[in-house]
This record gives sequence, structure tokens and C-alpha cells, in this order.
Amino acid sequence: MAAVSAAREILRRLHEVMAARTGAEAKLNQVVQIVAAELNSEVASIYLLRDGMLELYATKGLAQAAVHVTRLSMGQGLVGTIAATREPLNLAEAKAHPDFAHRPETGEDDYHSFAGVPIVRRESAIGVLGVQHRDPRDYDDVEIEALQTVAMVLSELIHGAGLVDDAQAAQARAASSGPLRLPGLKLVDGLGRGTAVFHQPRVIVEHTVADDVEAERLRVYSAFQRMREQIDSMMGQAEFSVGGDHHDVLDTYKMFAYDEGWSRRINEAIDTGLTAEAAIERVQARTRARMRSIDDPYLRERLTDLDDLSNRLLRIVSGQLGTAAKLGLRGDTILIARNLGPAELLEYDKRFLKGVVLEEGSLTAHVIIVARAMGVPVLGRVTELFNQVSDGDELIVDAGNGALLVRPQAAMIASYEAMRVLKARQAEKYAAVKDLPAISRDGQRIAVMMNAGLADDAQALDMTGADGIGLFRTEFQFLVSATLPRRERQQALYRTVLDAADKRPVVFRTVDIGGDKAVPYLIEGGQEDENPAMGWRALRLALGRAGLMKVQARALLEAGAGRTLNIMFPMVSEPWEFAEARALVETQRAVLARQGHALPAHVRYGAMIEVPALIETLDVLLPMTDFVSVGTNDLTQFLFAADRANPRLADRYDWLSPAILRVLRRIVRESKAAGVPATICGEMGGRPLEALALMALGVETLSITPAGVGPIKAMVRSADLSVLKAAMADWLDRPGVDVRRELSALAVAQGVELG
Ligand code: PEP
Ligand code: MG
Repeated sequence: MAAVSAAREILRRLHEVMAARTGAEAKLNQVVQIVAAELNSEVASIYLLRDGMLELYATKGLAQAAVHVTRLSMGQGLVGTIAATREPLNLAEAKAHPDFAHRPETGEDDYHSFAGVPIVRRESAIGVLGVQHRDPRDYDDVEIEALQTVAMVLSELIHGAGLVDDAQAAQARAASSGPLRLPGLKLVDGLGRGTAVFHQPRVIVEHTVADDVEAERLRVYSAFQRMREQIDSMMGQAEFSVGGDHHDVLDTYKMFAYDEGWSRRINEAIDTGLTAEAAIERVQARTRARMRSIDDPYLRERLTDLDDLSNRLLRIVSGQLGTAAKLGLRGDTILIARNLGPAELLEYDKRFLKGVVLEEGSLTAHVIIVARAMGVPVLGRVTELFNQVSDGDELIVDAGNGALLVRPQAAMIASYEAMRVLKARQAEKYAAVKDLPAISRDGQRIAVMMNAGLADDAQALDMTGADGIGLFRTEFQFLVSATLPRRERQQALYRTVLDAADKRPVVFRTVDIGGDKAVPYLIEGGQEDENPAMGWRALRLALGRAGLMKVQARALLEAGAGRTLNIMFPMVSEPWEFAEARALVETQRAVLARQGHALPAHVRYGAMIEVPALIETLDVLLPMTDFVSVGTNDLTQFLFAADRANPRLADRYDWLSPAILRVLRRIVRESKAAGVPATICGEMGGRPLEALALMALGVETLSITPAGVGPIKAMVRSADLSVLKAAMADWLDRPGVDVRRELSALAVAQGVELG
């Protein structure tokens, strides 16, 4: 308690200083007097970042002649080291430290011990507060903490007085932190450069000294209440159902949220006279310090969770709740998040979004599909992301090489620019094949269509030279809306797409909502799924809510007036579901006809094959359909029983494994025999080697991500498919063949362009 009362006394006196009507410099002079007196130190000094240098700004105990004269660069001397590392130093014998730099003008020769802490604003050091003593003594933890508390208050004072500006501080920090290369997993290929923006912005604590301690205590109390409620309700939600990864995290969150120790420490900090925000941050700084000193990965992760929770508490208490999307992007941005939902990503302004970096993330999660559709490179599974990257850092995302370059040097930026030029040249090459058909060397015509879901995507048809839209994910419109899109809006979107496609075919898939594409306005109370990917999703939900499906059917039929309309149903598990969905649309067609509305010239109906059970009943299904399309994302997830959104499974199973290739071969064979066209519309088809395998199985139509159209066309035009087909038949009949290896070797031997 002595510690609390000492800290309280310092804060009380600082409060008076802050409230006084004196200038900033006079205030800093008073602060050093207070610190020296309260910590019983002969010297107390404040260094501030001025023009990139740390300048002695106020001192009690050092020579006054050195004020504004003694200057150290970032990383230079003990003061520079503290600022560069943003870590305190506590030394009984300052001169023994390897970074010690002698500054005779200060008259510090007589002092042995030294303790200093960084003055931080927006994660950048803007100065250093240090104390010195003649006797070689260690400052104890309580004293270091008191210095850190004073440093927080100083940060507010310095910023308020305009003594250091934020941009300068960020620059200096970037210069001192140095460049870094963090490895990650390529989720969407591409290169992007911009400044780091956190999806959940860090709260900036503007007021540190409390006017009314009891009021602050109440604020923290109710913030804790709200946080606990939030976590309890998250635990009840379907996507965090028992047993999942999320659940473990939430369990830990819950443990911390109800942890007496944590709230007690925050309350103690409030007792000393800090505001609720400052108290939470003070305690958080301690957690971070512990995090840095711990090697055990398990414990580190738990502390990261606590850090995350502190941020949540800070956001609640300060009312700064919005994501970066709500605040708006201002320049070229690399978005940083632990994970994102597709709807969250869609909230960002595409013009400024140059890349996304996730701590988690998985190849076929819908957010990745959305990013791919937006043309935004994504790097996932960057484990050190939150420890190493700060808001405002310059970043280069090089997804193709699985790397995030943090605070790159000029040479790295130059090589990035060179790479960008190279990519642009490659794009020109693809542009050259844009208007040429995808015909293989041995004369086989492949239809290369693209997947779409946003209104803008239709424009990509001309840009990429795709043969049509093989999968239009109508649920994207539902994901970006706050409420259920009305029929008129649905119809307008479908018409825009059809107009843009002109004579090229468009396949509209009816809404695939549920799974990781949940929309809040469609969640039925108390009906949350434990396994949403296998739950009340897609056609199941649509057939269960016939009203929704009727509205969509009408919108599609109206938009398709006078043309051929292709409608496809997602997640068909049994043929009767397809029949029922089709009948539902047909009924709407009859109603519209009775009412004298213009109707499509033809309506073609297709089923998505993405549930393994359906493959066993193709003989029943195929005669009912006009076409089928294989959704390899879901099909592989269900075949391997491997959640497509689980980062730990992201690269575990291969699309070129015999299980998948044999299943696909069977679908292709049976469809051919039934005279029903079978296409592929999962992400698999957008990767050159995988697409080559599909063609070797006899697939003639692919629908892929727009960015893949050029490379896949170029690939087709360089391949001899008959040779590959014969080879594939042989590989699949012989057990134990590594198809990836064999196919790569054959492709290379043929000179196939694999991008
Ligand atoms: C699929 O599952 O492969 C597919 C194309 O549909 P989605 O990715 O939208 O689930
Ligand atoms: Mg699917």
C-alpha cells in the first residue's frame, strides 16, 4: 500500500501541475522536481524527441547549461536505447552498460545508478524520463512503475502542448525499429504496399490523471460488466461452439474476464489517481513486459489473449468501438487483423486497400474468396504479426513469396517496385491472350469462365476475357447489406450483371447463407448451429424460408426477361432438394406468366455438387438437371472432414490427392454419360497445375477467380491435353502415384505455362 500512496502523491502533484496556467516548459521543470523529490533521486531528467534527436529538455540535478544542448540519436546511449526499444532500463552502474555514452557537459560523472522509462504515444517513443543517483543502487519495481505512470502523464502533457508531433514520432520509431521480414501463408496471390492499419484500432488514451477517482472506478466496473456479458454471449454463439479453437480462446478470455487479480490491479492503478483508460493501459504495459520476457509459447499465447482482452476493455471504457472501416481509410493501406469475416472485409474502401495480413486465415474461407474477388492480396498465418507490427508502419505484402516486409529499407522498396513492373508486364502478356480462345495445342476448346459476386465484378469480364460468369454468388449482396435486400435491389443487381455480360452466359447461384457467411438479420433466435458449415445453410435455409427463395426467384426471373437464365442451387444433398427448389422457381415463373410479365426465353437449372452424398445419387439427380457444377471448396471440406476455415488444416490436404481426383473423375464420367455438362467452380480451378489436372480428367469448363483467367488461358494454350489425359488415367488406376509430382514433371516436359 505504501507504493500506492507514493504513486498517488506523485499523481496528485502532477494533477496540480497539469491544471496550472503555466507554459509547457515550466511544467516539465516542475515535473522533474516532483519526480526527484518523490523518488528520492538526485537527478531527474526529461528528454524529448526533437528533429529526430532526443534532446535534454528539463532536468533537476544535471547542469542547466546542458538543457537543449545535449542531444542523442535514437539508439544512442542509454536514453537512445530506451527510446528505440521502448523498454525501461534499471542499472546500478550506468557506465557498465555497453550502450552508455559519456556526455561531460551534463556533469553526470558523479552519478552511478540510472533508471529510465520511455515516454510513449501511439506506440512510438516521444521521449525518455530518467533518474540518477550517486550511490550505486537498483531502483525497485515500485519506483519503476511510478516512473512509468509519470511517463504516461508526460505523454499527455507533451502532446497537449504540441512539443512532439505524432508523425515525427512514428518516423523516428520506424527508423529505430529497423526492417523485418515475417513469413506467412499465401492466401491470395499478389503484391501490395501501404501503411499498417489495424482492423480493431488501438485506443489512444488522451486523459491520464483522474479528476474523480470514484467516478473512474465506476467506469471500469461497468466496462468489466459489459465485457463479461459480451464474452458470455459470444460463448453461446454457434460459431464459437464447444470444442472449436475459438472456444478455447473464449474459455481463456472468460477466465481473465472474471479474474480477480486483473481487475484488482486495475483498481489499484485507479487508486493512485489514474483515469480508467490510463489504469487499464498501465496494467496492460506490465502484461506486455511479461510477454516479452517469456519463452514458453503456451504462456505467451495466454498473455496475448489477455492483451487482446485489455484492448477490448479499453475500447468499451473509452467508447472507441468502431473498426478501421468505420473510421475510413485515408491512403494506401495494408489491413491487419487476427481474422476477418467476409462482410467485415467488404466494408473497406477497395481503392485504398492494398493488402490484408491475418494472424490466422485459411485458403478457402469465404473472406479469402471475397478478397480474391476484390483483387486484394492476402497473407495469412503471420504469427508474430501483433508483436512486430505497429499502427502506421510501412508494409509490403508479398503474398506470392509468403512474406510480409515490415518497415522496408529503400533497397527493398526498389525491388518491390521492380517486381511490380514485372507483374504488370506479365499481366500485359495475359492481356495479349485475353481475346484469344482457350484452345489447347491439340485443338481442345476449354471454356474459362469467372466467379463473381459484386456488381463491379461484371466489368472484369471484359478486362479478363472470361467466357462468362460460371458462378455468381448472390449471397454477397446479402452480406454487405444491413437488412434483407428487397426484391427490387436484387433484380437491379442481376440485371446489371446480365447487361454487362451481354451474350456471355451467367450462372446465378441462389443464396448460400450460413456457414461462415452468416448474416445477422437471418439468424433465427435460439437456432444457432454448432457446426454451421454443415448446418442450416444454403439451400436448406432457403427451402426452410420459402419467402426468401420466392423473392429471389422473382428477382432472377424478372431480370432475365428475354434471355437465357441459368439458376444454380448450392449445397444440394439429395435430389429431392433440387427438385423442390426447381419447382419453387417454376411456380414463380407460372405466377409471373399469369400476371403477364415478360419472362426469360429459357431457364436452365443446375445443381452444385459439393456434398459427397449427392455423388452416390447422380443417376437420380442428373436427369433432372440442365447442368451441374462442382464446388471443390466444400466438396473437399466434406470429403476430408476438414473445416475449410480452420487455419491448422489450411494446407494439410492436397487437391491433387487420389481421393479428390477419383471422385471428380467419377462425376465427369457420369455427367458425360448422361449428357449433362459438368463444370468446376471451386478455387481449385484457378490454380494452373490443379486446373491442368481437371482438364486431364476431362473437365471442359472452369469457373475461376478473375485474376486466374489470363494465366489459365495461357496455360491451356500451351498444353497438349490428349497426352495428359492418357497419363492421368494411368496414374489414377495405379495406387500410390504422387500425381502432383508426375503432373508437374510432365507439364514441365511439355513446356506448359504454369505462371
Ligand atoms: C465451393 O464450395 O467450392 C463453392 C464454389 O462455393 P462457395 O465457395 O461459395 O461455398
Ligand atoms: Mg460451396
